[in-house]
Amino acid sequence: MDILKQRILAEASVLNSDVLKVDSLLNHGVDPELTMEMGREFARRFAGETVTKIITVESSGIPVAFATAYELGVPLVFARRKRTLIGDADAYCERVPSFTKGIVTDLIVSRHLLKAEDSVLFIDDIIANGDAARGLLRIVDQSGARIAGIGIVLEKSFQAGGRTLREMGYRVETLVKIKSLDGNEIIFED
Ligand code: 5GP
Repeated sequence: MDILKQRILAEASVLNSDVLKVDSLLNHGVDPELTMEMGREFARRFAGETVTKIITVESSGIPVAFATAYELGVPLVFARRKRTLIGDADAYCERVPSFTKGIVTDLIVSRHLLKAEDSVLFIDDIIANGDAARGLLRIVDQSGARIAGIGIVLEKSFQAGGRTLREMGYRVETLVKIKSLDGNEIIFED
């Protein structure tokens, strides 16, 4: 997606050689038109797969996951990071390290939102080491549902997450791949 690369070049900033700040597009603000375009692109790429549900992680995954769900005409479920008083006490829960927060967080999904008959497409904003993705995939596995694929807006391909998931046999589609942030410069693959 060339438009996404241009917007990243114009609006993102390199915090250090591991972390890109993409607040206006992915992590704090939302451009509805661009986000719907991302959703259309994921829907196009996964058109040949059976998808009954989209799953993501709150909060940065929700806009693009919503756009994809809208385009595919299926419901969206997002994993919560905190238990709520009215939440399901018996929910699926996986503990994962958080790349940006530097702490361990929980991913929580109520059991009734995932069914063994579901074919689930996981959509998220950014993949670094892949901990969040693998945690969520473990939850989907526990539910008995199948994983239809994984769609990530931005893959930092110098970190192992995307590669690890492909090696595990999943179909991983990413809209933009960044191969380096060294020297304060964003270098895309291809
Ligand atoms: P992972 O579990 O793959 O290591 O990290 C995934 C999550 O950490 C993403 O959903 C994203 O919210 C956050 N994250 C990872 N790398 C970056 C980054 O370079 N910039 C920002 N803003 N968030 C990141």
